[in-house]
Amino acid sequence: MDSEIQGQIMEKFRQGFLARHQACRQWKKSGRGVMGCFYGLVPREVVHAAGFLPVQLLEERDARLEDKARLLPFLCGMSKNITGQIYEGRYEYLDGILVGTVCDTNRHVLDIWAHRKVVPYLRLLRTPSKADHAAWKFYAADLRRLARELEQMGGQEVTEKRLWESIELYNQNRILMERFRSSRNTLGISAQDALYVLASSLVMPVENHNELLRSLLQTPARAWDKKSTGPGILICAMNLNMAWDIIRLVEEYGGRVVADDFTINARYGISLVPRQEDPFLALAIGYLRRVPAPGLYSFQERAESLAQQMNSSGAQGLIYLVQLYCDAYAMEYAVLKEKFDLWGIPHMRLEAEDNSASIQQLNVRVQSFLESLI
Ligand code: SF4
Repeated sequence: MDSEIQGQIMEKFRQGFLARHQACRQWKKSGRGVMGCFYGLVPREVVHAAGFLPVQLLEERDARLEDKARLLPFLCGMSKNITGQIYEGRYEYLDGILVGTVCDTNRHVLDIWAHRKVVPYLRLLRTPSKADHAAWKFYAADLRRLARELEQMGGQEVTEKRLWESIELYNQNRILMERFRSSRNTLGISAQDALYVLASSLVMPVENHNELLRSLLQTPARAWDKKSTGPGILICAMNLNMAWDIIRLVEEYGGRVVADDFTINARYGISLVPRQEDPFLALAIGYLRRVPAPGLYSFQERAESLAQQMNSSGAQGLIYLVQLYCDAYAMEYAVLKEKFDLWGIPHMRLEAEDNSASIQQLNVRVQSFLESLI
């Protein structure tokens, strides 16, 4: 009975992610706006306080999408895939898109989208790469401007009270996600299902996601499946589809993915937005150099945080998955590798495109990496 309840909750997370476009269209029908966010550096609290639903733009596996994007072939598949989806009309319900700079590619596809006028409102968040007082003030001022723009677009007034309520909701989500991450093995939830919990947090209304997380955390612990006693793996990735494939490969060869690290969710969830007098300043402090996207975080801290996750999860090996032509991740790995070698962390870098054939070619490498850990 208990596992039946857990299964029902998990199905809600899965559907929250898989049926996201239908859910957004329903939301629009109720007269409210939807705002696309390109990566985790967009402070969703401001969007939420203005009454819009913040929705992360995410990759979908469909080979035709890259061709539709007609972007240069050496750009990453993520930007081509999302551009293809936008051109194909899969995001026709969006009132706007906010881009928080992570890399040159995501910064500049914005210009192409602006040229094509793909949505009524496109906005670059001028995210400083520093986190000192001047940077926080600058970013807080830009977020204040963003709030005024969203109000003018038909959103509700972003009062301090509303913004604090939104911050509180997202902080609760971060706390619950962290609790989920640390207890998902004892809850008996598979790595693949855990990814649905993370993925749905990027597209569902935060209130619903919090409620589902609370229900899930209340379900009783379950014993580990006896078949899954192989080496524990920490997976570090950007692309969700590719991560699902790698998890399947790891499990096929007797391993277990015991922890994960995604720029757009798990890592985003690490830091709470602090309580400050000014909520915009609090958001600036909470986000600047706290969402450890490649290149936007001290490499030493990144490496230490991964080493700490290896320890706390009991992982024996780390798989670092890079999407082909993603310079941001490729460069980060090159720096982190030295530290992993120095600290004796067994690790492997995989690079692939977001399609089944490309991932299947990694088959033998995953198998031999797991064997090396036994
Ligand atoms: S971070 Fe990598 S995958 Fe994401 S847009 Fe930039 S190059 Fe593409």
